[in-house]
Amino acid sequence: MKETVEEQQDFVKDITKMSDDFDRWYTDVVRKAELADWSGVRGMMVVRPYGWAMWETITRAFDDMIKESGHENWAFPLLIPRSFLMKEAEHIEGFAPEVAWVTRAGAGMEELEEPLAVRPTSETIVGSLIKRYIQSHRDLPKLTNQWNSVVRWEMRSRLFLRSREFWWQEGHTFHAFAKEAIDEVDLILGYYRDIAEDWLAVPVLSGKKSAAETFAGAVYTLTLEGLMRDGLALQMGTSHYFGQNFARAYDISFSNKDNERELCYSTSWGISTRMVGALVMAHGDDSGLILPPKVAPIQVVVVPIFRDAESRAKVERFVDGWAPELKAAGIRHRVDWRDERPGDKYAHWELKGVPLRLNVGSRDVDAGQVELVDRLSRERRPLPAAGIAERLRKELTDFQARLFERAREFQRANTFELSTLDEVVAHFRERAGFVWAPWCADAECEARIKAEAGGVTIRMFDPDEKPSGKCVVCGKPAKHRVALAKAY
Ligand SMILES: [Zn+2]
Repeated sequence: MKETVEEQQDFVKDITKMSDDFDRWYTDVVRKAELADWSGVRGMMVVRPYGWAMWETITRAFDDMIKESGHENWAFPLLIPRSFLMKEAEHIEGFAPEVAWVTRAGAGMEELEEPLAVRPTSETIVGSLIKRYIQSHRDLPKLTNQWNSVVRWEMRSRLFLRSREFWWQEGHTFHAFAKEAIDEVDLILGYYRDIAEDWLAVPVLSGKKSAAETFAGAVYTLTLEGLMRDGLALQMGTSHYFGQNFARAYDISFSNKDNERELCYSTSWGISTRMVGALVMAHGDDSGLILPPKVAPIQVVVVPIFRDAESRAKVERFVDGWAPELKAAGIRHRVDWRDERPGDKYAHWELKGVPLRLNVGSRDVDAGQVELVDRLSRERRPLPAAGIAERLRKELTDFQARLFERAREFQRANTFELSTLDEVVAHFRERAGFVWAPWCADAECEARIKAEAGGVTIRMFDPDEKPSGKCVVCGKPAKHRVALAKAY
């Protein structure tokens, strides 16, 4: 009845090996694990139920966090009049290459009086309309968020990471004081860090973007950067401080306590379905996904093993005896009675990254136990059926912690400290990962790193840290210690 280890290694077939071709491995896993697929609309994806379930868990967790701190959800139109979009010059300059336009409508395809942009993000329409709802300091702060999809006309697409349409939340907040808006941007980055580390089990670097990488129209941008298993960085969420830039462009003002008009301070922030891509690339292996229990749509799968109707009935009675306990304990589980061979079922659930599998055969029933198989360690061991819900809850908590620890260990092993441009160039010729290096804060030096080290960019830096070294490019005193990486 028991499978051999050799068979176990061989369960999942037809996936390109991660070490052979990471990009193909990624696409194979995303499609075969039924997370997402291409749609027939070029560059636009279908997110399938298994992928969407993970996004739903992320949205619920984040929505709870922002509601707790007083944010409210609302909805804005999909289409933005051209005149709205053009008001903030720097913003539109940044987004112009990626905007899709609606210019015709109706059976005769008549030309519209004013072209309408399909929103690439909603600052411009929120900014154009919010002044209706802000008159006095008593109307502030306005803490708003919307869950929607946006369109950016990317020329190169990749499921979850870069698609012409993606789903996200966009927060937009308006404040009477700069300090309050600055605190807001920090608060949200902290929430994003919780989502990345506590929910997705992906350790992140967080800090400030360089001016060249700052969101179009922002004073500064805070970011989270995770490391994927190919050593490339992935930006996992951004939080932008606008100062009064958007308020000036969109005339968003309020009367203060002395009855004088003042411009608002504003912020915006977003995380997207890209998070699901991060889960795949930060944890997966040659057999497919490895999902953190907190976002796994199925946390425990039970695979009954039987030879005939009699042993099937025996196993079924046994499983029926404790499966309701799992439900009552809120453990997302499935009993796989599909008419397939056990080995095929193992492969199926390994590909889908289900953290724990319980094999239950006739002999397990006699012993009053199940065989627990761990997707991360691949270990198998017996688990008593008595008190199984509580035992599994502990196992899932432990799994979540081990997965995070493994990712953190990977990040540590792939983080380096270098001090000359030659070293940086040589490093990225051979390998990837994060490289910490001192930088003088000149855009020219930043551009030289990017050009000479093959597209390596400054991912972030801690604005509070004051390094003592010399700029990795020009040798002038460094202002920041920056994390360099190749990134998605
Ligand atoms: Zn320099």
